[in-house]
Amino acid sequence: MLKGKTALVTGSTSGIGLGIAKALAAQGANIVLNGFGDVEGPKAEIAALGVQVTYHGADMSKPAEIAAMIEHAKATFGGVDILVNNAGIQHVARVENFPIEKWDAIIAINMSSAFHATRLALPGMQAKNWGRIINVASVHGLVGSAEKSAYVAAKHGVVGLTKVTALENATTGVTCNAICPGWVLTPLVQKQVDAKAAAQGISNADATKQLLGEKEPSMQFTTPEELGALAVFFCSPAGDNVRGVAWNMDGGWTAQ
Ligand code: NAD
Repeated sequence: MLKGKTALVTGSTSGIGLGIAKALAAQGANIVLNGFGDVEGPKAEIAALGVQVTYHGADMSKPAEIAAMIEHAKATFGGVDILVNNAGIQHVARVENFPIEKWDAIIAINMSSAFHATRLALPGMQAKNWGRIINVASVHGLVGSAEKSAYVAAKHGVVGLTKVTALENATTGVTCNAICPGWVLTPLVQKQVDAKAAAQGISNADATKQLLGEKEPSMQFTTPEELGALAVFFCSPAGDNVRGVAWNMDGGWTAQ
């Protein structure tokens, strides 16, 4: 379905981004990977799906590096047809104790990076009259949780950016939508499980149960594969008129 298209997925060396990149590759899209840590493993996983894959190590907190990554995608594959703004980090502390540098980093990586990548990828999509921008927001783009001020502010911002981008392109073949996952067991969340277990002197299994029990009625993690399938739907012809939604996949978290 996506043969001949190019998907750039930010923060795709791990977790949700890698899951979405694999789902898009399975549909035939060539992939631009981005993110830190192991690169060769994710690259091999994508190549095994029979598509072309390249990597750019842009730090998503740096607008000039984001611009260089978009140029790299253009030089390698001729442009970006599908942009998945996924890179993100977390820090947990009360507002009065929140380190200023963590606030700035979360706003830059979780929100402003989506603006920069979007503004740079849009002209190419508009010229082809086809494009998909998928912003990985969070349930925290819809509701709040204590001790996550920067993250919740950034994710609400991403949902707002999604709506405006969708509206500005509403009469074209370019759509923009957000995905709002509940808990997904990736390194980002494993750190929060570990912190809970350590703080309360409980096992990892009990900390996991507690984490899910506080927020997620299904008592199940959403998986990167499920989120990948939703991204594929947004890219399918059935998604042509889905514009500006913030689609939660959260085990009932925001239904409460
Ligand atoms: P993860 O830690 O597994 O992956 C994060 C990815 O972003 C990695 O590839 C990492 O290298 C990359 N990254 C981090 N900082 C970067 C930077 N400055 N520049 C470039 N890349 C950078 O986390 P994840 O859980 O897969 O999170 C992915 C996205 O999903 C994030 O935006 C997160 O907020 C969102 N999300 C996660 C959950 C969850 O429960 N895990 C829930 C809702 C939303």
